[in-house]
Amino acid sequence: MLNIVLFGPPGAGKGTQSERLIGKYNLVHLSTGDIFRANIKGETELGLLAKSYMDQGNLVPDEVTINMLKSEVLKHENAKGFIFDGFPRTNAQAQALDAFLSSIGTEITMMVGLEVKEEELRERLKKRAEVSGRPDDADPEVIQNRINVYKNETAPVKDYYEKQDKYIAVDGIGSIDDISDRLYAAIDNN
Ligand code: AMP
Repeated sequence: MLNIVLFGPPGAGKGTQSERLIGKYNLVHLSTGDIFRANIKGETELGLLAKSYMDQGNLVPDEVTINMLKSEVLKHENAKGFIFDGFPRTNAQAQALDAFLSSIGTEITMMVGLEVKEEELRERLKKRAEVSGRPDDADPEVIQNRINVYKNETAPVKDYYEKQDKYIAVDGIGSIDDISDRLYAAIDNN
């Protein structure tokens, strides 16, 4: 299986690039943010719980997120692999993911990190707010909190995969096509 963690701060382009990667490599896209948003829309219990965290730009608790992710993976028995987008976001999630994948006889192939400077991220999120309809894009304070949460809780996950020799950095600045080409090269040369 080809299991890729697509990593990067909010606004790095993970969603956009995931769409391209799933087509090219025939993978299943699992975006925890998208799954939470679908649950909010469907007014499920999980959605109600997640919303209170998401609206503030905080992380949904690990246990809830991990259980949801596991059940999503198990829905795709015949998958050739997965793009994990927005997961894992804490070291506890990364450890749980490793243990879970190992229990079903597979593992993370690599983490590809889209690297984008903070100033550019703020600009992109401001623009995205005009079209995304996401409440967490609309408020500059929530955007700043998401960036802070990324720095404090999520950035260490990169070290987790670096220690396993699985981290590949990709420059996330430039045209969408150029960034896709860099990602393809990173994946194909692995
Ligand atoms: P995203 O669409 O990836 O930007 O995620 C939007 C929001 O969903 C985040 O700010 C969190 O509140 C929540 N979320 C998404 N993925 C995770 C995760 N792996 N762990 C905890 N919370 C998450």
